[in-house]
Amino acid sequence: MSARDVIANLKELAAATSTADGAQRLAWGPVWRDARRWFAGKLSTLGLEPAVDSAGNSWVTLPGDSARTVIIGSHLDSVPNGGWLDGALGVMAAFEALRRFADRRPPVTLKLVDWADEEGARFGRSLLGSSAASGSLELEDIRGLVDKTGVRLVDALRENGVEVDRMRQAHRELKTIDARAYLELHIEQGPVLESMKKPTGVVLGTFGVERHMLRFVGQAAHSGSTPIPMRRDAFLAAAESALQFREIARRHTTPTARVVCTVGTVRTEPGIVTAVPGVCEIALDQRALDADVLAAMLAEARDVSERIARENNVVVAWRRIWKIEPRPFDLRLIELCDEAVRDVTGDAPRLPSGPLHDAAEMAPHMPVVMMFTSSSNGLSHCKEEDTPESHLEQSIEAFLRLVEKTVANV
Ligand SMILES: [Zn+2]
Repeated sequence: MSARDVIANLKELAAATSTADGAQRLAWGPVWRDARRWFAGKLSTLGLEPAVDSAGNSWVTLPGDSARTVIIGSHLDSVPNGGWLDGALGVMAAFEALRRFADRRPPVTLKLVDWADEEGARFGRSLLGSSAASGSLELEDIRGLVDKTGVRLVDALRENGVEVDRMRQAHRELKTIDARAYLELHIEQGPVLESMKKPTGVVLGTFGVERHMLRFVGQAAHSGSTPIPMRRDAFLAAAESALQFREIARRHTTPTARVVCTVGTVRTEPGIVTAVPGVCEIALDQRALDADVLAAMLAEARDVSERIARENNVVVAWRRIWKIEPRPFDLRLIELCDEAVRDVTGDAPRLPSGPLHDAAEMAPHMPVVMMFTSSSNGLSHCKEEDTPESHLEQSIEAFLRLVEKTVANV
């Protein structure tokens, strides 16, 4: 019956912290604080009390016979007009895991963590709390951040008892934990499990990302007077390249490893209907779970764009916007997760995560695995976000089994 309790808690939280437009638990704001207060009330029924670290992450400890620790976590914050499951599912499932162990002392210590500001929806920095804990947060990158109403991040944090200059202490605090595993249940936020008609999947890791701006430069010219063979059309070179980037993704996709390439923006100059575009900028985002595959995809994209530029008598320049390494999860925990999912659903599909998660920040520091539950219509970060109730129940049961197995094996 306990999966039903988790769902009941999720509904109670949604009712308390949503409007007709969806969840409103924006990090560092009053509704998010309400959500944490509500959760502290739930914890008090187990005699447990949360403690907030230097970065605003909220930790709950259930001491066990050993200091060896299994961390179970996710985040209570949401985007504005967000869904009821993103983040909250993982925290409520973790609460249920603690509840199961609360009346018998577990052989290892259990910690539940509610990461602060996973979404970065207000100040634009995702994984804020978990990156502080992992030590990857650069304070210079965040000190100047301001939300769209002009409030500074440093002030919003201070209002919540967090001093930016002390945030990185959270890393030292994390290192005092003898962490043997980090487990997170999350909604997939994509269409893959639903398309396979599977309730639950084992997550292999989070994609590495290579994000570049490509600037094609030819020559702007009159669209009426310039014959086609004499043109140096920067847009056509960009467009041909974009089609080839799709081929690169197709070529590197195997039945067990999916990769993606996306051209998400395009801008032309002079940008008028009567001129051949002299400049075209496109943004390319490439993602893969395997670092070698990602590097190969990037090299191929560069080569093909340069060939196409030459053929169109234009030049192309690449500029990196952002990069993150792939974060493959722990092989032993992946096997335990596979067993747990198989026990409950009979089959354990494996898939990478396209979105980043707090789990990715933990991966360099301890063995990590995530479990996904299916997303209805692949939707997330909106009020339509949902999972069929039977899928939710099976996912929660499978996750609770994963916790049991991990506790018994670390
Ligand atoms: Zn999330």
